[in-house]
Amino acid sequence: MTDPAPGARPGVLREAREAVVDHAPALARLTPGRTGNLSVRDGDRFAVTPTGVAYDAFGVADVPVVDLDGERVAGRMKPSSEVPMHRHIYRGYGSEAIVHTHSPWATTMAVLHQELPPIHYMIVAVGKRVPVAEYAPYGTEALAANVVAAMEEAEATASFIENHGLVVTAGDIETALEHTTHVEDLSRLYLQSSAVGEPTELPEAELDTAIEQFEGYGQD
Ligand code: 13P
Ligand code: ZN
Repeated sequence: MTDPAPGARPGVLREAREAVVDHAPALARLTPGRTGNLSVRDGDRFAVTPTGVAYDAFGVADVPVVDLDGERVAGRMKPSSEVPMHRHIYRGYGSEAIVHTHSPWATTMAVLHQELPPIHYMIVAVGKRVPVAEYAPYGTEALAANVVAAMEEAEATASFIENHGLVVTAGDIETALEHTTHVEDLSRLYLQSSAVGEPTELPEAELDTAIEQFEGYGQD
């Protein structure tokens, strides 16, 4: 971050910043306190939640805008400490939105260093399994590299982070939040079923069928 206070410039990436303000409160039902963050990309810049601020305690002019090199170009507040993770995922995936949480069931998986196997067809929303990225201190380039490596290796759009939490990327912020909820719910199913028995896994052919079915799912 070279410029500590580039000014509000509320017109810069206005739609993406509005989306951050509108959707940040949804983090509250996934992650307690002020932890976690989300971002929305537009071209080679993205709007991201400010660091260390309650999810509903900022407006559009506060929302930081950062370019894919990590330079802050607008916004009154300092950006999330996880800017390296967000920009490396955008560079690697070309996706449009990212959600990072410390939500309790997913973070239990992260604490156990336990990847999520295909115990339910809904996993195909994010891949055929959810991997666990190796631990590194929060906010570091090392953590960003570990997360991208884990997601690429698993061909997944989500990853747990050892002893930390979960990150999910998608084509828009609504989908990223929805997929975050799926991974949180599936983590709970995995842990509940592990507590009373041995969770069963779907065979790969059934996952391929679910992927095909999802292409035609929902209203026309
Ligand atoms: P920020 O408040 O800086 O976004 O950090 C929260 C977090 O979850 C760090 O991993
Ligand atoms: Zn975190």
